[in-house]
Amino acid sequence: MTLTYQSTRDANNTVTASQAILQGLANDGGLYTPTRMPEVNLDMAVLKDTSYQEVAKLILSAFLDDFTSEELDHCIASAYDDKFDTDAIAPLVKISDDQYNLELFRGSTIAFKDMALSILPHLMTTAAKKHGLDKKIVILTATSGDTGKAAMAGFADVPGTEIIVFYPRDGVSKVQELQMTTQTGENTHVVAIDGNFDDAQTKVKEMFNDSALRDKLAANGFQFSSANSMNIGRLVPQIVYYVYAYAQLVKSGEIVAGEVLNFAVPTGNFGNILAAFYAKQIGLPIGKLICASNENNVLTDFFNTGTYDKKRDFKVTSSPSMDILVSSNLERLIFHLVGNNSEQTLELMTALSGEGQYSLGDVDRGILDLFAADFATEAETLAEIKRVYDAALYVEDPHTAVASAVHQKYKTKTGDQTKTVIASTASPYKFPVVAVAAITGETDLTDFEALEQLHAISKVAYPAAVDGLETAPVRHKTVVSVADMQGAVERYLTIAD
Ligand SMILES: *Cc1c(COP(=O)(O)O)cnc(C)c1O
Repeated sequence: MTLTYQSTRDANNTVTASQAILQGLANDGGLYTPTRMPEVNLDMAVLKDTSYQEVAKLILSAFLDDFTSEELDHCIASAYDDKFDTDAIAPLVKISDDQYNLELFRGSTIAFKDMALSILPHLMTTAAKKHGLDKKIVILTATSGDTGKAAMAGFADVPGTEIIVFYPRDGVSKVQELQMTTQTGENTHVVAIDGNFDDAQTKVKEMFNDSALRDKLAANGFQFSSANSMNIGRLVPQIVYYVYAYAQLVKSGEIVAGEVLNFAVPTGNFGNILAAFYAKQIGLPIGKLICASNENNVLTDFFNTGTYDKKRDFKVTSSPSMDILVSSNLERLIFHLVGNNSEQTLELMTALSGEGQYSLGDVDRGILDLFAADFATEAETLAEIKRVYDAALYVEDPHTAVASAVHQKYKTKTGDQTKTVIASTASPYKFPVVAVAAITGETDLTDFEALEQLHAISKVAYPAAVDGLETAPVRHKTVVSVADMQGAVERYLTIAD
């Protein structure tokens, strides 16, 4: 039976997996979400000897079940190839007896967004062909720094697509910014906005939900889709590496099949950790899902109090990809929490946009108790980079260090000794100034000086992603106000009145 993806805000709005990927976001503002979990045979005796690509096939064919086997083979082979600098695709590094870092940053843009965004363009163009789509797909993307680059790397010069990326002008690292503004490809457009990530994401969602704009696009042969984790085509490929990591630990004898494993995930939009939740739902033996935030700790408060309150100061931290106050994918968890009830979900989300907060009433806390949420301050994050370096001569990026620090706090607080995998979401080469300052105390280096220092300290080879970045021509220089984001879209598509 084909899986149904239902809008979190309208029970009558249901689609198949390929339709959900093509649309990105439901027209009612909701997110397409599976209403039941597929059956997946997670036989570790077999999976421990299975390649990343084969695990991907197992998971994708279960969740994206209206794609044919050949279509998925093509998408997987096109995504997980030598764009990654290791055949393992997502290798594990043992940091201590109870900590393993799962390196999700070995793809072309050195952040974990590559894990899903290297396959999303293939899934989307395959879905477009399947449904005989006669329109050009316009990928509209808000980015806190990493999605934008990873999406453009995937969609650059893909026929039948345009991609427009909005990023907060003062909210990304220099390396992140240069990675985006030097992007090549005739169909790529990068725009800095005078605002933060939440401003960008809210406006992008508004454009998606604007039926007049949708009609205008359609009349001109365009259709929006999304490369943000609101697209189920982002989430499903992220389930793969949780299963793969577990199997690899069984293979290396670090755990035995069936043993419970915790995962600590540095969280912003709640996409990565939601994928871990789905991995648990299909039977992966996961204990706690440790939800780690930076000082924008709205999720910590939510899990601890049942109230989600975005009315607080937005902080710019050293882990900018997690500087988010409205975590879009939490809506999917809420939907499951209230028993896949879209009316109730809509009510809560309406309260969030109207009043800036909502409180869970009387819900079964079962799902919430799977999570342990906490946050790391800026000082704790830097101290954790230093601690891990001193202990293991391994350099974590600031996002990874947030999760690593929260894991340490969690252990102290609970005494839980369960072995834990830290989702390591970016290479330190993407945030060299912070990484070097944490380890050496030098705080006045430029990004490019810090890159050299980092190389000397970490002995990790320069990733291709930062090679030549200093001298690459800047192609994208547009800055707009939040109010003019739609204007920018219309100008790029030459449909402005
Ligand atoms: C996007 C991102 C995150 C947050 O992931 P979510 O899926 O949004 O929770 C964490 N770290 C890095 C480096 C990222 O790019």
